[in-house]
Amino acid sequence: MKKLDIRRIIPSREECGCSLPHEKTLREVVVGRGIVEDLPRFLEILNVEKPVAVFYDENTFKVAGKRIVELVDGLGIIVNEPTFREAEGKTILAKDARTVIAVGGGTVIDVAKYTAYKNEAFFLTIPTALSHDGIVSPIVSLFSESGRRSIVTKAPIFSLIDLDLISKAPKILLSSGFGDLLAKVVSIKDWQLGRDETGEKYCYTAEKYTMKAVEIVVGCLKMGRVKDYEKIAEALIYSGISMMIAGSSRPASGSEHLFSHYIDMYSSRRAPHGIQCALGTLPSSLYHERYNPNWWKNPDYEWRQLRRYMEKAGIPLSLNQLGIPVEIAVKALVFSPDIRREKFTILHKRRLTEEEALQLLKETELI
Ligand SMILES: [Zn+2]
Ligand SMILES: [Zn+2]
Repeated sequence: MKKLDIRRIIPSREECGCSLPHEKTLREVVVGRGIVEDLPRFLEILNVEKPVAVFYDENTFKVAGKRIVELVDGLGIIVNEPTFREAEGKTILAKDARTVIAVGGGTVIDVAKYTAYKNEAFFLTIPTALSHDGIVSPIVSLFSESGRRSIVTKAPIFSLIDLDLISKAPKILLSSGFGDLLAKVVSIKDWQLGRDETGEKYCYTAEKYTMKAVEIVVGCLKMGRVKDYEKIAEALIYSGISMMIAGSSRPASGSEHLFSHYIDMYSSRRAPHGIQCALGTLPSSLYHERYNPNWWKNPDYEWRQLRRYMEKAGIPLSLNQLGIPVEIAVKALVFSPDIRREKFTILHKRRLTEEEALQLLKETELI
């Protein structure tokens, strides 16, 4: 079993010299096989309070939720939909719980994170798939009446990543994790655009952790180690840490995430989060290559090479295959900057026309 003592590795804001939060909510992450069974011992060490509420969905209940409820003698709570309304409902339902444990993927973690934050309860995550970097981040991203909205809450204090559990997840979810991580090649450059063109706050420590995550997955893909769960988990944790440091999703979410948000809001068919972000990464990186003199010089981060890595990670790179309409993808490139006007990206710097957007999708072979 591997332990990451997070508090020790994150420098303070003073040490860093930036004025961003450098949150240290996350104390520890443990990664290993069959370690779910050790959960009661970890709860004791963490000194968390009872009662405990365990959040899961229909699937994650079967794979782990049921067992975890037994192990911690907890109150089981099923999560049904990725909305703030759902999260508000669960906040009331779990109002007496002093500790909230999320057992699942994106939606379960986000709804549980929101509940724990509102109720000021201890929060722990036990991911059932390595599909995104929200496992230890302070960000909650859910639907409200007006579309997808992200808010900053608090990161978990502890995350337990059981590789036996992770290995049972559908393959596409692991591909999604790779996609969410490769997307950072764009998100960091979008953040730097914000820094250089609008004077936005920037943190080199956050950048370091984000790029460490990218280097880990690129390394795995170069060596064909697409099932190195431990490494991929570590990369997702580093990306989550980067968001804790920045106190926002800024290091981990740029124009490629806006593209994904737009599809979430307007397409009848959706793909897992990291798959959509990977799709957005290709036109965004080609666009950066053309119009951003500060784009990476590293050949690993050229759009064509990123596409090869994505293929190796098993990411389907065809809008048609995923059932996402071309018109929606075109509109996503043109109009997604309006979703977050204050988050400056390459798509804000030089607004695309529909013809140009269509051309980018063709050039990057998404259609
Ligand atoms: Zn993401
Ligand atoms: Zn900093």
